[in-house]
Amino acid sequence: LEEQIRRSDRLKTIGQIAAGTAHEIRNPLTAIKGFMQLLNRTLADREMVKEREFVGIVLTELERVNDLVSDFLLLSKPKEAKRASMRVGKVLQEILPMIRNEALLHSVTVIYRPKPELPPILADKELLKQVFLNLGKNAIEAMGEGGTLIIRENHYPYESDKIAIEIQDTGPGIPPDFLDKVFDPFFTTKPQGTGLGLSVCQRIVHDLGGSIEVLSSEEGTKFIVWIPYDGGERGD
Ligand code: ADP
Ligand code: MG
Repeated sequence: LEEQIRRSDRLKTIGQIAAGTAHEIRNPLTAIKGFMQLLNRTLADREMVKEREFVGIVLTELERVNDLVSDFLLLSKPKEAKRASMRVGKVLQEILPMIRNEALLHSVTVIYRPKPELPPILADKELLKQVFLNLGKNAIEAMGEGGTLIIRENHYPYESDKIAIEIQDTGPGIPPDFLDKVFDPFFTTKPQGTGLGLSVCQRIVHDLGGSIEVLSSEEGTKFIVWIPYDGGERGD
């Protein structure tokens, strides 16, 4: 519990800093991106290949800053709003093309095991997509080249009012010392990492009344996202 309070205090502090600056950063970013895209088109018309490559790099890096700012904004948001009843399978279907594409680039095999009979949940679809994308990306990044990513929908009798979405990889696993740190904001073992992915995931899932569990060994890692059923829609 103490650990949770510490984490929540840290998130609050980050939130306050973020709220004050993220919007201010995003506006000029949007302008820079717009003009870079224009420049990109002009360079294409003039067949300036080398310069286009530079502008391409600038655009990619801009996207990284933009993602970072988005994560900050998300962490700084006090409460979640737009919720609707939905099947988690539909949410997964929408992000699977992106995950498969990323997996293909790293020779990772993706297996998806849907469970169509699961009842709906109450969630913000865009935020939930971000959770599964983050977890899928982490899994692929952990495996490097090759490996298998398994995504499952499940229901367990011992958690009868929740569904479980499992994202499992065959990567090197998370060392036991790090297991309780991976959800901390800014905890990363990657040279280019922000360490915000999992804290954002946890924030989103907590706001839905759910939780994230992590199981890891040297054979790989499994993240389980628990989300409560939509009570109003259950009808059973
Ligand atoms: P980032 O991806 O920017 O490092 P995250 O919050 O998404 O930030 O993840 C934090 C850290 O947790 C990662 O740097 C990595 O050390 C560890 N981690 C997360 N997912 C996995 C995974 N599937 N396998 C191994 N380690 C993982
Ligand atoms: Mg990540």
